[in-house]
Amino acid sequence: MPFTKLGLSAPLLNAIEKVGYDKPTTIQNKAIPLILNGDNLLAAAQTGTGKTASFVLPILEKLSRAETQRKKRARALILTPTRELAQQVHQSIETYGQELSLKSMAMYGGVDYAPQKQALIDGIDIVVATPGRLLDLYGQHAIHFDEVECLVLDEADKMLDMGFIEAINKIIARVPEDAQTLLFSATLSNPVRELARSAIDNPSEISIAKHSASKGNIKQWIVTVDKDIKSSLLSHLLTENSWSQALIFIETKHGAAKLVSQLEKRGIQAEAFHSGRNQKVRQQLIEDFKAGNIQYLVSTGVAARGIDIENLPVVINYDLPFPADEYVHRIGRTGRAEAAGEAVSLVSKDNFKNLCMIESRLGHLLERVEIEGFEPRKPVPISILNYVPKHKRNSEER
Ligand code: AMP
Repeated sequence: MPFTKLGLSAPLLNAIEKVGYDKPTTIQNKAIPLILNGDNLLAAAQTGTGKTASFVLPILEKLSRAETQRKKRARALILTPTRELAQQVHQSIETYGQELSLKSMAMYGGVDYAPQKQALIDGIDIVVATPGRLLDLYGQHAIHFDEVECLVLDEADKMLDMGFIEAINKIIARVPEDAQTLLFSATLSNPVRELARSAIDNPSEISIAKHSASKGNIKQWIVTVDKDIKSSLLSHLLTENSWSQALIFIETKHGAAKLVSQLEKRGIQAEAFHSGRNQKVRQQLIEDFKAGNIQYLVSTGVAARGIDIENLPVVINYDLPFPADEYVHRIGRTGRAEAAGEAVSLVSKDNFKNLCMIESRLGHLLERVEIEGFEPRKPVPISILNYVPKHKRNSEER
């Protein structure tokens, strides 16, 4: 169905045309009419599917129909796990809402309260917030929830992983009971379903194919290699391939800094992105990476959550992520909105179990490559599909 048939009015259709989207993605086709209809929603969709627009567009449409705005009151609350994602969703609202007069703000911790409080006093329609700071400001009476018409829990699984359940429950309890509630999550795990059961009345359910991020448009491969020569293999891959940009995932902050200096010694300029760097620097790095001024960004997993780079050609897992769902998330940074992308993972023997879990999650083995000069001395065995980790085996036996 084209955008024009989804029930969106001219200012939004114009903005969509300006950003250059030809047609709605699957989740947009499904979610937009339901949200406009006032349904509560439980949606399984990963980043990269166009999920942000699938809730932002109908929320803007609904809010624009009645432009009442009172100070210290938001009409829509969008909760996100990280500040980067909050900023990104806020950015999407500005883009799609460019022809509307609705106001939005990103609210997150680690920065001064004063500007956020002032923005609320000046009047805001949509607050995109991380749960902790939102509750904090609520506790200070800087924001009231009595006029919230719509509550979105974005990347709910990640918010639960990050320990936000208590904050989320408190927010839900303070929002009017008849507010429309939308929950988006990459996976509908038991804790997510539990949250949905307690927080959402009679939701419509949407599921975008579980493995959509791993299908078709993303070419995935692994390079088997010994752990101690991963950094020189990475330099080799970056030099040999003509990737215009790469997002490189690594496990720890310390590892990120170290890898950047190892690359530098080999004449490759990269930047480290992790939670140890201050907010301003992180913000600047994202902007520079998005603008193409940084070619290689070495990032820890949590920091990169939600980073949305147009036309990112490749994601490299320098360290294999855990758990398996994290792999699917990470590779979803490339191949956005059905463009072609590539995902390469460096795998050594001690990653074997982790690899089994990832390939079991995907339901297939990943293409293996050995690079001349970097062949592993300790070979990585072929994965056992349907691998069940030991702790799960035990709990099933019990
Ligand atoms: P998301 O899943 O919300 O993180 O969005 C992933 C990417 O898809 C973003 O870069 C969006 O700008 C882009 N996008 C969203 N909707 C569409 C669409 N209908 N057509 C093309 N690209 C889209």
